[in-house]
Amino acid sequence: MTSHLQQMPVSKRNQGASSEVARDINRRIVLNLIRTRHPISRADLARISGLQRSTISLIVEQLIEENWVLEGPTGRLPRGRRPTFLRLNDERVIIGVDIRPVQPTVALADANGKFISQEVMPTSPNPKIALDQLLDSIQRIKKSCRGKKIEGVGISLPGRFDRTSDRLVFAPNLRWRDVDFRNPISAATGLEVELENAANACVLAEVWFNRSEECRNLVVITVSEGIGTGILANGELVRGLNGMAGEFGHVPLDPEGPLCGCGSRGCWEVFGSNRAAIRYYFETHAEIEGLTFPDLLSRADQGDTQAVKALDRMAHYLGRGMRMIVAGLAPERIVVVGDLTRSWHRFGAVIEAAVQDQTLPGGAVPKIIPAYEDGMARLRGTVALVLQKHFSV
Ligand SMILES: [Zn+2]
Repeated sequence: MTSHLQQMPVSKRNQGASSEVARDINRRIVLNLIRTRHPISRADLARISGLQRSTISLIVEQLIEENWVLEGPTGRLPRGRRPTFLRLNDERVIIGVDIRPVQPTVALADANGKFISQEVMPTSPNPKIALDQLLDSIQRIKKSCRGKKIEGVGISLPGRFDRTSDRLVFAPNLRWRDVDFRNPISAATGLEVELENAANACVLAEVWFNRSEECRNLVVITVSEGIGTGILANGELVRGLNGMAGEFGHVPLDPEGPLCGCGSRGCWEVFGSNRAAIRYYFETHAEIEGLTFPDLLSRADQGDTQAVKALDRMAHYLGRGMRMIVAGLAPERIVVVGDLTRSWHRFGAVIEAAVQDQTLPGGAVPKIIPAYEDGMARLRGTVALVLQKHFSV
């Protein structure tokens, strides 16, 4: 929670917003304070949020009635006061699915965003088999949480998802195309299913669980086999026509460059993705079958100078691509998600220098930071996806 938030109540920060919008934001703030500081009393909620006691009471009563928040035990303070503490009901759980070209994961999390269990699925190039495996995994996890209330299934996709047609519209790195995930999963489990592009899911995770609650202009960049971006502009997720907004990864940096999965040449992602770094490495090193990006990071750590150079080149291109994001959207913060954050010392400074190299007069270099506790950002996003249905505008 930032000092900004502590000092200024939401009603003042959102002048012009309808009372309904303000109420929903206040609800989310109260919920997040309970989540991050539990056990907490109503008095402390009011003090920390800057909201009025009566507003806090109203929201808390509602959350208790809806069974999201539980009361007790009673605390002890000096001078005989005995406040009742509040905590989140962790019997309400969410199933999160992170679909990735390489290793899909299914996990169970509570409303705190804490993961209780997870399993990594095998992958099949056959979409029908893959969907069956996914369903098996979801059913296994569903069985394991007897007695708990499952709020829904959140799915993060490595492509753009069009919410109006319920279709995956653009997924150049996914082998299973034209798969309807929502209806078969919903029919087999009886649960509500929410789908979102992976980078957008990470934006929600930032806003819900991490340090970006007060940030209104934020871009998340997911770097893996490709590059995806999720955009929060003026406090709202940008989806665009057909859900296609955010495909900066497919803006060509060099029209003569290598062929991209999208059919174009020289897209940002063929220069700045994990795959690009591996390609750079093999330009100067004998090919090794099955070498993964984490292997490349380890090789660099072990002093392999060709690995270090390959990663450096990838970092430089990541920064170059970010210039268009900075120039076009002027975010306050860019959050980077992906295996590269494990070796942030190799990337952070190089990326920043490349962005700084071409800042517009009047523009500012945003904070460029690795995702909090990465590895789980997409999954945490799937939890946020389901939660926001209950708590968002
Ligand atoms: Zn492309």
